[in-house]
Amino acid sequence: TRVLLTGGSGFIAAHTLDVLLKKGHSVVTTVRTQEKADKIKAAYQSAVDKGQLGFAIVPDIAQPNAFDEAVVSEPPFEAVLHTASPFHFNVTDVQKDLLDPAVIGTTGILKSIKKSAPSVKHVVITSSFAAIVQPDKGNWPGHTYSEEDWNSITLEQAKEDPISGYRASKTFAEKAAWDFLKKERPNFKIATINPPMVFGPIMHNLDSLDNLNTSNQRILWAAQGKFKDEIPATGVYFWVDVRDVAEAHVAAFEKPDAANKRFFTTAGLFSNKEIAQIIRKNFSQYKELPSDSTPGGDYPDGGLYSFNNKRSIDVLGLKYRTLEESIVDSVKSFQSVGL
Ligand code: NDP
Repeated sequence: TRVLLTGGSGFIAAHTLDVLLKKGHSVVTTVRTQEKADKIKAAYQSAVDKGQLGFAIVPDIAQPNAFDEAVVSEPPFEAVLHTASPFHFNVTDVQKDLLDPAVIGTTGILKSIKKSAPSVKHVVITSSFAAIVQPDKGNWPGHTYSEEDWNSITLEQAKEDPISGYRASKTFAEKAAWDFLKKERPNFKIATINPPMVFGPIMHNLDSLDNLNTSNQRILWAAQGKFKDEIPATGVYFWVDVRDVAEAHVAAFEKPDAANKRFFTTAGLFSNKEIAQIIRKNFSQYKELPSDSTPGGDYPDGGLYSFNNKRSIDVLGLKYRTLEESIVDSVKSFQSVGL
């Protein structure tokens, strides 16, 4: 299949690109600069040489019409995977830094496809558990999170702090996509992938741990000894491995039954304490790790929500990796860039 993948320099997109190429799909990926394209090119020179991988520069997805040119190709695209969206918390203006790129990025690419790429049959959008979670409910004992749940965050709440801003950006963007489908009745089907905290090895896109993607940071911090005296609160207790998220994106356009569905792709529950324990067990060189009696980072007393990931297994065929495999492979990948 001929595929357009947005944000190819990102953590999740790098793995998605890898799965796409291994499965023989022909890919154009968007990146913000030529320099970022060159880095990916170097890792996949033979795919580039045989015309299986190409690039389009899209510097800022918050610009309306940003994707007008990128969606047009020869041969034409049949599937679009939209992963690009800001995921970081160093923002000064929630609207400009988070909401606009997420929402305008999503509606913009859907408009461009409808207008200029009639051959596209499937659009897969990277949404998030952020669009599912109900933060006000806290640990919500007895509740089972699934695709049925929607974050009810408002614009006013979005502006309270960067974490709310990020969650709102994903919620509003996903809502806008489903609204587009309903109102515009385009030629294509939509599927959304809604992962919680994504862990796993980093790929070629990183030359310094200073630029490590947001969701992997706690693993790095644990290995660096930052959890030694007190383990920070886990926050959201759901996780998934990046390689499974990548598989999900590809299955979501390959499998006809995935059309027009959202997928809560989670491997299950984790705690920061478990991350530290896995590192301690597998990497004896890191001495500054917490012991079993170090305070913090454990599951809450008094119960916790659970999950239903059945749809992702039944429809997408996912086989989730274990937390131990994910954390061990993450740490090994950090070692290759200087941990
Ligand atoms: P990364 O930060 O590694 O990737 C984000 C990507 O989006 C990068 O390629 C980035 O480009 C691009 N991007 C951000 N803002 C813009 C913009 N204004 N214009 C053009 N490109 C932009 O994070 P992830 O791989 O983790 O995130 C990918 C997707 O997955 C996002 O949609 C995120 O919301 C979602 N997600 C991630 C989870 C996680 O735990 N990691 C969990 C749930 C969802 P550049 O690097 O050049 O700035």
